[in-house]
Amino acid sequence: MTEDTERVPTRLEVPLADTWDLTTLFETDATWEASFGVWSDELVQFAQYRGRLGESAAVLKNYLEFETEYERKGDRLGTFAFLKETEDLANPIYQGMKARYLGIAALANEASSFSRPELLELPPEKLADFLADPKLADYKLMLERVVRYRPHTLTEKEERLLALQLESSQTPREVFGQLTNADMKFGTLTFDGRTLELSHATYASCLEKPNRELRKAAFHQYYAEYADHANTLATTFAGSVKQDIYNARVRNYPSALEAALFPDQVPISVYDNLITAVRANLPAVHKYYAVRQRAMKLPELHFCDTYVPILTEFRKVTSWPDAVELVLESLKPLGTNYTETLAAGLRGRWCDRYENKGKRSGAFSSGCYDSDPFILMNYKSDVLDDVFTLTHEAGHSMHTHFSKEQPYQYANYTIFVAEVASTFNEQLLTRTLMERASTDRERAYYLNKEIDSMRATIVRQTMFAEFEKIVHERSEANEPLTLQTLRDEYRKLLEVYLGPGMTLDEEQSLECLRIPHFYGAFYVYKYATGLAAAIALSQKVLKGGPDDLAAYLNFLCGGSSRDPLDLLRAAGVDLATPEPVDAALKHFGDLVDELDGLLK
Ligand SMILES: [Zn+2]
Repeated sequence: MTEDTERVPTRLEVPLADTWDLTTLFETDATWEASFGVWSDELVQFAQYRGRLGESAAVLKNYLEFETEYERKGDRLGTFAFLKETEDLANPIYQGMKARYLGIAALANEASSFSRPELLELPPEKLADFLADPKLADYKLMLERVVRYRPHTLTEKEERLLALQLESSQTPREVFGQLTNADMKFGTLTFDGRTLELSHATYASCLEKPNRELRKAAFHQYYAEYADHANTLATTFAGSVKQDIYNARVRNYPSALEAALFPDQVPISVYDNLITAVRANLPAVHKYYAVRQRAMKLPELHFCDTYVPILTEFRKVTSWPDAVELVLESLKPLGTNYTETLAAGLRGRWCDRYENKGKRSGAFSSGCYDSDPFILMNYKSDVLDDVFTLTHEAGHSMHTHFSKEQPYQYANYTIFVAEVASTFNEQLLTRTLMERASTDRERAYYLNKEIDSMRATIVRQTMFAEFEKIVHERSEANEPLTLQTLRDEYRKLLEVYLGPGMTLDEEQSLECLRIPHFYGAFYVYKYATGLAAAIALSQKVLKGGPDDLAAYLNFLCGGSSRDPLDLLRAAGVDLATPEPVDAALKHFGDLVDELDGLLK
């Protein structure tokens, strides 16, 4: 029996032991309701602080304690409603619970919105006194992070004007979403006697199929639809870039890039170093394409030939208990505290393991300060990627677990460091799988997988990051971003990053019009820096001594108690230098050489 024909159980049919235990959050729906009622009633208390934050350090402390406690209770309520809803998206009880939670959360947001402007308007001397006051020591960093924004905060009247146009400023992103998800139709493809509806998801899976004709057909048909909408997409994207520039200018940032890097306190040099280091190592990427072309015996290598595993016949079946065993084994270098805590969580009820009718697809790690760090999966034993997903999400969950060493207000870590903890674990899993491989072909399969994931996460995302930088700079220099400009700039990058061995299809440059992340500019570079940092740190832990391990575990306990670059620097990786990215790509080059040898 294959997975396709197996009947998917309903939520009620799933054995309890295979599900997460949310009763640790709220025993029953009724206890949630009672707690929600109290929380909703407390909303009015925000008003008593309005206009009073500058009165004294004691008043400010009372307010911050109240606000923090209110948020913490809200997290707990929201986590329960949100996780319950994902168990069965068709269940109206939890849809309603989530909607009611979101309603009060929005009101709380509004009720507390006075605090930031009030803090920013405090006279500098008074603020300095507050920051030095021991009463406010627990909130000092939090206050400093608000005050950082002073040079980028406008007068009340101006802020009101900006707030009034916030919704309409989202139009480019929404047009893009509606056009690409609702209006554009990609038609159907027929192969092996089956008809397949082409969509974003099936396009991606077609590129991983061994059948080359199918890959080619999917590629051309998918991009034909983009070609038909290319002018609209280019105009929409140019609008989004202009909006980024407008937002940066009105808030006194020197550029859109600097505005985007400001919240994480990341200097532009980190962004530029990334691009420089990746470009310097492109020969290893180009060599990989040559290895791939030779191994696949292709006269020409096209983009649509770069996602299918080179060794397509490899299969591995891993049951859930075996996957847990394998993951724990691979994480042994992190020490017993890490592995025993994770073992208890995974063998206990942190993870909602298997698919059921109506369950949210994919996987995530989610929890709050007062809950276990839960994991949602749709685990399938014949999908090796699911073992990687398990260790990835376990990495997030352990990061969440350890970050509770911080007080609530500093426990939430930022995206910039989040993907380090998860991809670090993937590095260790790859290493264990390669060590245990019983044949050269199996080892080559894992090597290929690792190389492809580094290529997708470090090289490709850096190309995206460079494109974002170029188009924003051109627009900042008042040059029009036409369809032709966008395609020309993108094609130049494709030629550099994919290298002379790749045969570029004419449509390939339309790719720049279909990346959703471009509508939240300067975000994707974090994928590249995150994986590079994870590779550097995993090498340190594997090859280094107890101090290196202690530094990494300390990083996992850091939450947001320091800025992201400082947290990573203390763990042993300095992203302000090109060295970590360079080292990661040297490692990439070594993997390519080994794969080349094994495939010869
Ligand atoms: Zn992740």
